[in-house]
Amino acid sequence: MKIGFIGLGNMGGPMAANLAKAGHEVAGFDMAAPMPEGVTKAASSAEAATGADVVITMLPNGRILRSVAAEAIPAMQPGAVLCDCSTVDVDSAREVARLAHEAGLGALDAPVSGGIGGAQAGTLTFMVGGGEDEFTKVQPLFDIMGQKTVYCGASGAGQSAKICNNMILGVTMIATCEAFALADKLGLDRQKMFDVVSTSSGYSWSMNAYCPAPGIGPKSPADNDYKPGFASELMLKDLTLSQSAAQSAGADTPMGALARELYRVFVEEEGGQGRDFSAMLPRFTEKNR
Ligand code: NAD
Repeated sequence: MKIGFIGLGNMGGPMAANLAKAGHEVAGFDMAAPMPEGVTKAASSAEAATGADVVITMLPNGRILRSVAAEAIPAMQPGAVLCDCSTVDVDSAREVARLAHEAGLGALDAPVSGGIGGAQAGTLTFMVGGGEDEFTKVQPLFDIMGQKTVYCGASGAGQSAKICNNMILGVTMIATCEAFALADKLGLDRQKMFDVVSTSSGYSWSMNAYCPAPGIGPKSPADNDYKPGFASELMLKDLTLSQSAAQSAGADTPMGALARELYRVFVEEEGGQGRDFSAMLPRFTEKNR
């Protein structure tokens, strides 16, 4: 396939490289990032989009996605698909899909989970919203960049799944860190705490797969001085998206709201910027001192 790839940063760079390695013809554009191996440099979003069967975007936020889409859509050939893999607000995802449809194009919102390691290894999970025909067309590309794809429903459903998942993740990580810090205060050994919780009803991905206590459970950013991994400011971004979606949909999400506020304070006032989101544990132990 002929692919236009716009946004070649930490995630987009290796995703585009994997598509090129698999034999697709990839034209890339980024404001700043270098061209990944095998990707031909385009001079603009419009140039990357010209003649492509699928245009993939991997950008920082919904505002930037909207402006890139405004450039790319008029350059795309009829029947081509605009597939956004960034994590953005549901409203931007739906608006970009609407503009693409108006121009006779297909559109998918296909955010990912799996981080930079997953992008490099081609093991991302894609959660996809949009038309089924477009989904079928782009599925072979998801199979190259990832190992699992879930078709979630109409436009915006992929972003909805992503922010609901990450709201659960933010809340469970805070609860796990809070409980470790309480266990410390109660004199309970952290390894014993892990052994019990990871096999009892308090288990979660945060505890079992990404334990925030150094030296316990599988290897995680806690074992690397809380270097990300998944940075706290990215968790704050995702919790902000889930709260604004909850507000516009009229959903009551008090735990999500509190998690967002804790990460906001952590990132903006307590030195959490640039630290993994599991560094909430030393933050709590510090508070409990
Ligand atoms: P990044 O900042 O490394 O990459 C974004 C790229 O977009 C940059 O290279 C930037 O130069 C480029 N860009 C910005 N404006 C542009 C424009 N107008 N035209 C062309 N290029 C432009 O970010 P990332 O870590 O690659 O994340 C990308 C998206 O993936 C975000 O939405 C993020 O939330 C999501 N995501 C990231 C991770 C992760 O672990 N990093 C995991 C899952 C999802």
